[in-house]
Amino acid sequence: MTSTAIALFTRDLRMHDNPTLLAAAEAADRVLPLFVLDEDVLGSSFLSPNRATFLVDALHDLDEALKARGSHGLVVRRGDPAVEVAALVAETGAEQVHLSADWSGHAQRRRRRLGKALADTGAELVLHDETIAVVPPGAVTPNDKDHFSVFTPYHRRWLDQPRRHVLDAPSRLPSPTVRKGRIPAAKSLCSGDRAPHLPQGGETAGRTRMHGWLRASVPGYEAHHDDLYGDRTTRLSPYLHFGCVSPTELVSKAGRSRGGDALVRQVAWRDFNLQLLAARPEVAVEDYRGHGDRWRDDEEAFTAWREGRTGYPIVDAAMRQLVSEGWMHNRGRLITASFLTKTLYVDWREGARYFAHHLLDGDVANNQLNWQWVAGTGTDTRPNRVLNPLRQAERFDPHGAYVRRYVPELAGVQGPEVHEPWKLPPEVRADLDYPEPIVDLAEGRQRFLEARQGGAR
Ligand SMILES: Cc1cc2nc3c(=O)[nH]c(=O)nc-3n(C[C@H](O)[C@H](O)[C@H](O)COP(=O)(O)OP(=O)(O)OC[C@H]3O[C@@H](n4cnc5c(N)ncnc54)[C@H](O)[C@@H]3O)c2cc1C
Repeated sequence: MTSTAIALFTRDLRMHDNPTLLAAAEAADRVLPLFVLDEDVLGSSFLSPNRATFLVDALHDLDEALKARGSHGLVVRRGDPAVEVAALVAETGAEQVHLSADWSGHAQRRRRRLGKALADTGAELVLHDETIAVVPPGAVTPNDKDHFSVFTPYHRRWLDQPRRHVLDAPSRLPSPTVRKGRIPAAKSLCSGDRAPHLPQGGETAGRTRMHGWLRASVPGYEAHHDDLYGDRTTRLSPYLHFGCVSPTELVSKAGRSRGGDALVRQVAWRDFNLQLLAARPEVAVEDYRGHGDRWRDDEEAFTAWREGRTGYPIVDAAMRQLVSEGWMHNRGRLITASFLTKTLYVDWREGARYFAHHLLDGDVANNQLNWQWVAGTGTDTRPNRVLNPLRQAERFDPHGAYVRRYVPELAGVQGPEVHEPWKLPPEVRADLDYPEPIVDLAEGRQRFLEARQGGAR
C-alpha cells in the first residue's frame, strides 16, 4: 500500500536544506506539502501588510518548486492548523505529520493542539528542531540554568556544538491528490499600505541574494557591517525569518570563507534569542530584567519618532528607511531604539510594536529581545548606556550619504551640517522644511539616568 506523510510548512518555506521536508519524503511514498493560513495569525498583529506580501511570494515560489519535483504543488488551507491537518490525515490516511519545531508562545500552543488532534487519528507528529535554528534551544545550557543570559559564553558553546550536514533539496516529491486550495492575494490577508520598496520574497530570491553576498561581500563584512550607507550586510533577515534560506546552510557556507566568522557570530544571536524566548516566553511582553522603569507617556515625541521627524537626521533617516523598505540597517535599529527608550524614555514595547508592524523580518524573539537589549531591560551587560546619535552619525555615516538617501529635505546639504542642520544659517534652514530637534540630547540622557537610578530595584 502507498504510504503518505504530511509536511506541514510554517516558517521553513524552502526546498533546500530542509530536514522537515526531507524526513517526510524519506518516511513515505507520497508527501502532502501543506500550508495552513492560521486564523490566529491572520487576525493578529503577527501579520502585517509587508509580511503578508513577502509570505505570499514565498508560497508561490514553494508551489513552483514542488511542481518541478513531480508534486501537485502546495496544498493551502485556512483555519486552525490542528483541525485542518487532522482532516487531511483522515482524507489521505497519512501516517506521519512532519513539523519544524519553533519556540514562540504561539508556535508552542500550535504544536500542543496539533499533538492532541492527531492523538485520535493514529498519525504520528514528528518534530524537527534543526530546521529553524542552527543550534536549537536547550541544546547548550549553562550548568545551573535552563538558558544562557549572556551572549559571549553562549556563543563559545554554540561554536563547539556539532552541526548537521547541509541537505540537498529532494529530487522528487510525488504527492496524493487532494483539493489544492488557493494561495490568496496578499491584500486579502491583510489590508493597509505596503512599503514601496519591498524585496521579492521566497526561496529563489533568497538563494540568489545569499549566493551573491557570499561571492562578493564576506571579507568586508567584519570591517564594514556597521557602515550605514555602504549597506554591506546580507539583508537576508526576512528570508531567514520565513525560512526561505536555511541558517545552517548560511553559516556553513560563510564559515568556509575568510572573514566569515563575523557573520556566523551574528547568526548565533538569532539562536541566542530563540533559546531565551523558549525558556521565558513571557519576555515577549515583560521585562527580562526589570528596573522599575516608569516610562514616559509622550505621544507627540512618539509620533515624531515614528514619522522620522525628530530633528536628528540619523534617527529620521533610519525611521524612513523602515517605512520605505520594510527593513532597517542594524546600526539604524540600535540608534533609533536607544533614542526612543533612553533619550525619550518611552517604553520599549511601543517601539517594538511599531517595528513589528513594518519589519519584514519582524519576529518575537529577535524584535522583542533586541528592543529589550537596547532598553537595558534585557541581556545587555551595560544596561544604562545611551547612544548619542551625533557620535553615531560621525562614526557610521561620516559623509552624511545615508541621511541624504533617506531624508530628501537634506539631500542638498553638504558638509557636517547634514547631521546638525540647526547649525546652518537661519535663511538656509528656513527653506529646508526640516524640524528642529524635539529633545536636547544631554537633558534626555540625564532624565533617563535619573529615572533609572531612582526607579532601579
Ligand atoms: C531594536 C532592534 C530590533 C530588531 N528586530 C529584529 C527582528 O525583528 N528580526 C530580526 O531578524 N532581527 C532583528 N534585529 C537584529 C538585526 O538588526 C537584524 O537581524 C539585521 O539588521 C538584519 O539585517 P541583515 O540580514 O542584513 O543582517 P546581517 O548583518 O547580514 O546578519 C545575518 C543574520 O544574522 C542575524 N542577526 C544579525 N544581527 C542580529 C541580532 N542582533 N539579533 C538576532 N539576529 C541577528 C539575522 O538573522 C541576520 O539576517 C533587531 C535589532 C534591533 C537593535
